[in-house]
Amino acid sequence: MRKNGKFLGNQPKQSKAVGFCHSAQHQGYMSEKMLKAHGCLGKNCPYLEKYEDMQFWKDREKKKADKKARKAAENA
Ligand SMILES: [Zn+2]
Repeated sequence: MRKNGKFLGNQPKQSKAVGFCHSAQHQGYMSEKMLKAHGCLGKNCPYLEKYEDMQFWKDREKKKADKKARKAAENA
């Protein structure tokens, strides 16, 4: 098998990936851990293609919504 230096090592299986980053710095399938390690989430990486079907993103949205609701309740 030919190694592709452009791609990340230790990539997750595609079935486990929560997204794919097209950034030349860290191109490849992204697991949840890798998103954090590469700062794709924190920096709002513009190259990140989210696999919206993955539970990870749904959980994330839910957490965000919960936080918002709690804040709203506190300020009420
Ligand atoms: Zn990225």
